[in-house]
Amino acid sequence: MATLLPRWNLSLRTELIACLLVTSLASTAIVGGLTYQRLMKKFNTLVMQEASKNFTNDVQKYFKTYGSWEEGQKVEGFRAFSERHRPPPRTDAGGGVLPPPAEPRPVGPGLVAQPGNQPPPPSPGGGLHRPPFRFYLFGADYRSLFTLAPYKPGDPIRDEDRARMFPILLDEKVIAYSSPQGEPNYSDLDLGYLSAMRESLVLGTTMGLALTLVLGLFLGNRLSRSLRHLTGAVQAMGEGALRQQVPVESDNEVGVLAQAFNRMSDEIARQYEDLRQSHTQIEAMAAQMRELSLRDALTGLHNRRHFDNQCAQFFASAQRYERPFSVMLCDIDHFKSVNDRFSHATGDEVLCRLGEILQQSMRGSDLVARYGGEEFVVAFPETDLVHAREACESLRQHVETYPWHEVHPDLRITISMGLCSDTNLASFDRMLEAADALLYRAKHGGRNLVCTD
Ligand code: GH3
Ligand code: MG
Ligand code: MG
Repeated sequence: MATLLPRWNLSLRTELIACLLVTSLASTAIVGGLTYQRLMKKFNTLVMQEASKNFTNDVQKYFKTYGSWEEGQKVEGFRAFSERHRPPPRTDAGGGVLPPPAEPRPVGPGLVAQPGNQPPPPSPGGGLHRPPFRFYLFGADYRSLFTLAPYKPGDPIRDEDRARMFPILLDEKVIAYSSPQGEPNYSDLDLGYLSAMRESLVLGTTMGLALTLVLGLFLGNRLSRSLRHLTGAVQAMGEGALRQQVPVESDNEVGVLAQAFNRMSDEIARQYEDLRQSHTQIEAMAAQMRELSLRDALTGLHNRRHFDNQCAQFFASAQRYERPFSVMLCDIDHFKSVNDRFSHATGDEVLCRLGEILQQSMRGSDLVARYGGEEFVVAFPETDLVHAREACESLRQHVETYPWHEVHPDLRITISMGLCSDTNLASFDRMLEAADALLYRAKHGGRNLVCTD
């Protein structure tokens, strides 16, 4: 059903006003039309009754005065008789229109039957004359007493007129039958009344519509205001502003909806905040975990996995762009005896301090890592053999001269290093193997040495 209706992009307020206007217009038109019809019918009936009564009176008087229709016709026509007995039309003192006379006189039948049918003379007051109904008049033998189309005197009554016929009695005896002809004519006063009635109806309708428009604007605005607040708040939520509060202006369904919305918005905003905090914590923990997975737990240096990954890229880049690249593998001399002579904890302390020395001695662009046990590695991107060797020699001296007695009075530490700068090897692993071989050579060369290819 909903799909059959046209889809207008109208605001709720406009739709409400349009509904009110259409409803009001339809109801006003129906009520106005029915009222006008009923009034017209009643008005016609009253006019007809009054005219019939007066016509009957005139006929009765005519018969009473002359004894019979034929006798009367010899003396004076029925029209002349009626006009003679008709009271003069009334005017008010200022010449204005008065209410219709109590007994306006209908014009008798014979008087309007001529081809040059003259309307009754205008009333001196102007506006008070009511053009009459015309009545057929038949004798007791149902034959027309005068000329009024389509009857001529002596014509028998037709069936269609017989139904509307009413008897005229005098001394409880039927003296004639009469029936009205056609629709009533209206007097100027009647037309004035009818015009005033129509104007009132049009005015009432216009006022009703204007009132509907004003009320529609007011009510439409009031009814749609709360919904507009809700719509705006929902849109704002959709754009990310989750904490929304709309005014609760009533206890009706819209008010209940507004309250529920406020609670939901609060709850969603609160849960979103919790979620956001959890998310931040999880992200921080994940970053921490990621970092930890790349670090050596004892020294805090990067671990072997991270070193291998990074150096594979350094090596590839160095080969591709033919840039210098060096890698150094170092090993603490006689470290086993450190553990044995001074304790494992002292050995750990030596490892930590050596890690710090390495980190501080190397440049920020160099990559230092604990490669395993008491072995450390350093990668020197963009560094050729000469400069790398200088750095290694400096490191060797730094370690040798370091105040290890702070750790233990009898402690002496030196390191041996193998340094490889051959980027023509097949892979970084080959470079590392070459550095390891050079380290082996340094060990056999007497230790505390830097061996290069
Ligand atoms: P060389 O000069 O030939 O390298 O002799 P070395 O004693 O240093 O070499 P070796 O391989 O015989 O001994 C290495 C020792 O390092 C053995 C092991 O107990 C010790 N070590 C390895 N990792 C750790 C660690 O994390 N902490 C401590 N305290 N010792 C470690
Ligand atoms: Mg070793
Ligand atoms: Mg060693």
